[in-house]
Amino acid sequence: MALMITDECINCDVCEPECPNEAISQGEEIYEIDPNKCTECVGHYDTPQCVEVCPVDCIPKDPDHEESKDQLYDKYIKLTAS
Ligand code: SF4
Ligand code: SF4
Repeated sequence: MALMITDECINCDVCEPECPNEAISQGEEIYEIDPNKCTECVGHYDTPQCVEVCPVDCIPKDPDHEESKDQLYDKYIKLTAS
C-alpha cells in the first residue's frame, strides 16, 4: 500500500527530503504523497523513512491504494528503470 498523510500534518518539512522516490510534496494545506511513487520505501529501505521521521505520526497506510510487497517492488523497479 502506498502511504498517505493525514490532516494532523504540522508542515514540519522533515519527511519530504527523506523520500527516496520523491513521492512527497507540499500540497495546498499539508504535505501529500503521490501514490504512484510511494513504494513504502520497498527497494530502498527496510522501513518507511517518512514514518520514521514524522514527529506527529500522521502517515498511515492508504486504504485506497492496497498493494502487496511484490507490487510495491515492481513499482520500485519501474521508478528506477529509466
Ligand atoms: S514510505 Fe518511503 S516512498 Fe513512501 S512516501 Fe514515505 S519515504 Fe516516500
Ligand atoms: S513529517 Fe509528518 S508532520 Fe512533518 S511534514 Fe511530513 S507528514 Fe507533515
